[in-house]
Amino acid sequence: MRLTRYFLPVLKETPSEAQIASHRLMLRAGMIKQASAGIYSWLPLGYKVLKRIETIVHEEQVRAGHIPMLMPTLQSADLWRESGRYDDYGQEMLRITDRHGRDMLYGPTNEELITDIFRAHVGSYKDLPLTLYHIQWKFRDEIRPRFGVMRGREFLMKDGYNFDLTKEDALHAYNRHLVSYLRSYERMGLQAIPMRADGGPIGGDYTHEFLVLAETGESEVFYDSEITDLRFGDRDIDYDNVDQCQSVLEEFTSRYARTDETHDAEIFAQVPEARQRVARGIEVGQIFYFGTKYSEAMGAVVSDRDGNRVPVHMGSHGIGVSRLLGAIIEANHDDNGIIWPEGVTPFHCGIVNLKQGDAAADAACDEIYKALSAKGLEPLYDDRAERAGGKFATMDLIGLPWRITVGPRGLANGVVELTSRRMGESVEMKPEDAIARLVEIYAPHFGHIQN
Ligand code: ATP
Ligand code: MG
Repeated sequence: MRLTRYFLPVLKETPSEAQIASHRLMLRAGMIKQASAGIYSWLPLGYKVLKRIETIVHEEQVRAGHIPMLMPTLQSADLWRESGRYDDYGQEMLRITDRHGRDMLYGPTNEELITDIFRAHVGSYKDLPLTLYHIQWKFRDEIRPRFGVMRGREFLMKDGYNFDLTKEDALHAYNRHLVSYLRSYERMGLQAIPMRADGGPIGGDYTHEFLVLAETGESEVFYDSEITDLRFGDRDIDYDNVDQCQSVLEEFTSRYARTDETHDAEIFAQVPEARQRVARGIEVGQIFYFGTKYSEAMGAVVSDRDGNRVPVHMGSHGIGVSRLLGAIIEANHDDNGIIWPEGVTPFHCGIVNLKQGDAAADAACDEIYKALSAKGLEPLYDDRAERAGGKFATMDLIGLPWRITVGPRGLANGVVELTSRRMGESVEMKPEDAIARLVEIYAPHFGHIQN
């Protein structure tokens, strides 16, 4: 993409309404624009990152054997009356009446709708196990929407639902989700720690929230510092292997890590003092096994091997897709702007032409642009007739991890400069070497980029 043909409305001023870095930087980098309280338009740059995150979530869910689908945003109130949640949900639910006077609502989540689909089409244990998921907009009329996309009213969520014959099978589904979430967050360049969470009114031990440590996080968290050394990495996992998934769960949840809702000072005191940490975190996902609550209330039953009709065991599992943009920026920025991890960057590299209009510099930039594109990399070429300082500031603000700087002086020696946004280091090299280096960097993140 050439910047002169793109739509990147960066702001010079720091918006006064933004209290935290990610909100400020998303507005300044022209990624989002508030449409009304807690509701945002996703401008091209923000939309691009949102899609990257969505793609990672899809790929990892499919890898785990979960099936994508799409349910509507608007739902009938009747289903929620069946589960008893129409009244329970309270003011966070946006209620709507259609022209025929029918009660509708903008879905804050989808347990009822998915259970309705299940009971209409599945009747036998032979159709299980089954895990369906979608990535769809949700609406919760939060009393205090704030921090930009972090706590919106309209937000994008991946929500998945497992249906299993037995509790044992459902717990394997739970473990599968935990593993796939660990992989997903790491691909986004994030460390998200599974922490024991509160089951709420449904209760139960089987729920974990995934938290990204950040000073601006809304949750207070307590953990054993050893947990921050754990990495999932690119280990090979067989999602059908019950023991393997269980052992990952044990590895990642055996150390103390809890939110304030479940924190237990006595147990925490048993962690060696030097390793006790109290910090803040951003919740970017949650997994939940809730047994037969919805299947019993809504008649989601199957016949088992002996022909008995039994309610299915269910769980629901969510990832805050739009909130993740905020969380990633909170964990990856400096005074000059965003620093995207390679896995989610909107463009793979910037090209800065130090002397727009100089025949040699223009030609070299065009050539590099074409060569990168031919490799499947997406460059953002700043081809504006601007001062170099202004171009660097824009690149730093929007946070592309790599920048190729092209100027007449370097070109006279046959070199350009490759700069790492994170390290701030620049290395002079031949253009073809810079391209090869970028292919090498991005190949592990994007399957279509190969030498
Ligand atoms: P919170 O405690 O932050 O209100 P929640 O526990 O009610 O969230 P879940 O029902 O667990 O949310 O939803 C799954 C994920 O969706 C959360 O882990 C979070 O990342 C995201 N999410 C929830 N509410 C919002 C919101 N208002 N804005 C953006 N993302 C949200
Ligand atoms: Mg939650």
